[in-house]
Amino acid sequence: MDAGKIFSCEFFPPNTAAGMEKLLNACTELNENMQPAFYSVTFGAGGSNRDRTLDTVDHLREQNTAVAPHISCMGSDRGQIKELLERYIDRGVTRLVTLRGDIPEDGAGTNDFKHANELVEYIRDETGDHFHIEVAAYPEYHPESASPASDFEHFKRKIEAGADSAITQYFYNIDAYLHFIDNCNHASLDIPVVPGIMPITNYKGLVRFSDNCGAEIPRWIRKQLEAYENDTDSLFAFGLDVVTDLCARLLDHGAPGLHFYTLNQSRATLEIWRRLNF
Ligand SMILES: Cc1cc2nc3c(=O)[nH]c(=O)nc-3n(C[C@H](O)[C@H](O)[C@H](O)COP(=O)(O)OP(=O)(O)OC[C@H]3O[C@@H](n4cnc5c(N)ncnc54)[C@H](O)[C@@H]3O)c2cc1C
Repeated sequence: MDAGKIFSCEFFPPNTAAGMEKLLNACTELNENMQPAFYSVTFGAGGSNRDRTLDTVDHLREQNTAVAPHISCMGSDRGQIKELLERYIDRGVTRLVTLRGDIPEDGAGTNDFKHANELVEYIRDETGDHFHIEVAAYPEYHPESASPASDFEHFKRKIEAGADSAITQYFYNIDAYLHFIDNCNHASLDIPVVPGIMPITNYKGLVRFSDNCGAEIPRWIRKQLEAYENDTDSLFAFGLDVVTDLCARLLDHGAPGLHFYTLNQSRATLEIWRRLNF
């Protein structure tokens, strides 16, 4: 493995026992072949979703893996966040991915914390240096941002509030990431910004999700995926070529690691990993 680089994987909390079994199988395969530094577990707004993140963290810890739960401003007040932090400390969790969170479909919004920087500040105030705090970065800009400059200023505020490192939204334009890193260097933000990597395994889902989160699928990729829409094997093979090449170029350009959005599946991530020759 490339010394000093951090490779990690993301899971979402499954809804069913069968989904949990699938996730744990994916985790076993990733542990055997890749040994990620940690698994992050996404967070949905609302009480039951909060518990599902915690439940997934518990299942993963039984596999002797380092886990980084995501924690967000959505639907939790100060007291609920404090309680959650205590539960994570009790479980030996030392890394958090700290976010504002997606706005849920029922429109329920933020509570005591309006933006991720406020939550980072609160976690630092309450728990000192206990947690390594990751935040989100957007090389292609967050969809709600007023301007590129203000989006970057808001990113900066999260680092100034005490974040240790960042994971990006996924992207397929390497120049967007390199430009973001240039901006960090100019602003003397000396923290690792790890590219988020979305393997390509499906056309419609990727387009829908990318439109929502503001990730651009370049025309040459989109057109080829469209052509392979009903040819799963060719689409998968093309996706592997594109994403492996992206990962290799990112690492060549000095990216401090890679964070794979696995969607609870190991196959594409492991094939990319194998091709990267670690
Ligand atoms: C690595 C990663 C993991 C993610 N995991 C999850 C998850 O588990 N659950 C989930 O719901 N979502 C998740 N998301 C999505 C994320 O929650 C959304 O993109 C959300 O809309 C923004 O979250 P943030 O932490 O980037 O917010 P912020 O940094 O708060 O930014 C949100 C928007 O507000 C603006 N802004 C920021 N601070 C201020 C301020 N002080 N004043 C005015 N405007 C401001 C920013 O420019 C941006 O447009 C994840 C995203 C990434 C990249």
